[in-house]
Amino acid sequence: MRHPNVLLIICDHLSTRVVGAYGEGEGCTPNIDRVAANGVSFGRVYTTYPLCMPARASFWTGRYPHQTLVESNGGKYTNGPLPEDLTTVGEHFKSVGYRCVHFGKAHDFGTLKGFEVFPVGEELSVPSPHEAWPENYDTWQDNDTLAKCEQWLAAATDEPFVCVADINNPHNICGWVGANNSMEGPVTAVPVPGVLPELPDNFTSDDLAELPLPVRYICCTHNRQAQTQHWDETNYRHYIAAFRHYTQLADDGVGRLLRALEGAGKLDNTIVVVMADHGDSQTSHGLVTKQVHFYDEVVRVPFIIAGPGITRNSGVCHEPLGSLLDLFPTLCGLTGVRLPTGLMGVDWSQFLGGGEAEIRSCVAAEWLTEWGHELSPGRMIRSERYKYIRYLEGDGEILYDMINDPGEKQNLAGEQSFSQVLQEHREMLARHVEESGDNFFSREVVVDERWRSHEPGWQCHRGIAAPMAQKS
Ligand code: ZN
Repeated sequence: MRHPNVLLIICDHLSTRVVGAYGEGEGCTPNIDRVAANGVSFGRVYTTYPLCMPARASFWTGRYPHQTLVESNGGKYTNGPLPEDLTTVGEHFKSVGYRCVHFGKAHDFGTLKGFEVFPVGEELSVPSPHEAWPENYDTWQDNDTLAKCEQWLAAATDEPFVCVADINNPHNICGWVGANNSMEGPVTAVPVPGVLPELPDNFTSDDLAELPLPVRYICCTHNRQAQTQHWDETNYRHYIAAFRHYTQLADDGVGRLLRALEGAGKLDNTIVVVMADHGDSQTSHGLVTKQVHFYDEVVRVPFIIAGPGITRNSGVCHEPLGSLLDLFPTLCGLTGVRLPTGLMGVDWSQFLGGGEAEIRSCVAAEWLTEWGHELSPGRMIRSERYKYIRYLEGDGEILYDMINDPGEKQNLAGEQSFSQVLQEHREMLARHVEESGDNFFSREVVVDERWRSHEPGWQCHRGIAAPMAQKS
């Protein structure tokens, strides 16, 4: 059998909340939806860490962040070194005869080993056509990445390949928050074409005062949240409009790559995956971008697969609980390549071919820090029905009923009637920690009291946040 090729398209920051295939986003992803129409969209796939570098190091190696030792985006916190026994996707597929090429955003802490990495450029930086949606290096690099990747696909030989297009967008939203920074006072958003999107049902939370400290004070440790301190509802609605715009840019890129694949006559023998490293808060709970919390908008990611061997009916598949850890084993299963040892994820190839789903009791995600200005160890356990979160700081716990409260507005951890459910989830976490060799419960908490001092609510925050304070 000829091994199929793989085209893996990663969109940094893409949330299921804007993808048409998941029933949302007001039609801003026609090309991603085209992949979904021919394949399977997993509805409950979770990232292992809602931050770029740890998430990427995790899915490129099929291990949890505490196993890769990549637990931050760098800065004051020193990651790694990578354990020597980790096999990466690139190394493994190269060892069985695949040509492995990578275009675009890396941010991988060495876990792209085995790929020929084409350098990221900004050669195609062009003035932004929309005043309301300024473009920065995220978009300019994508212009370059897409042009190079299209060119490579057009000239690809018959050698089987794993081609990765690592698109920054919709990550340009982070720069957009910077352009609408309200730390000095209210800002007037630049008018946008069309009608502003409505805020989501979970824009406000009922449980802010009962949330663990790292979440309650996210404005103190996350620059982007601090930059929204004087925003009103209109500013938040502009955020959603901007996010959809940057998502559309990413989606245009997906369309270009599909056309290049088709033009090269390789669409029929190529497995196409569209996924994200983590999502985006989407103004849920008044939050922007991503950081220490584990709300679904940020941890539940698009994961869409189409191509040879995938015969299951298309559409959103809500049954299996999945993880980005499953990417590596599933690619092996679909291409007929042997599995390396030590992977933590599940191979979904049989399921995608119409077989039964593997039943998992839960999937897990982790947090430690963004840049090391504070250490806030946290773990999420997502079971069939509930989401349980534990932070070491202040012994903070969260329990959400994901069926009755999908917007995660009511923390049930303190409710007497949920004490048994809570206990079961504490035990699930204890088992997960033990089985995966995670020293979570003995991790150090480091937070300066000045970042835990104002009245609860990120709109009560004034001034800068920890990373900027320690820079100055
Ligand atoms: Zn604050």
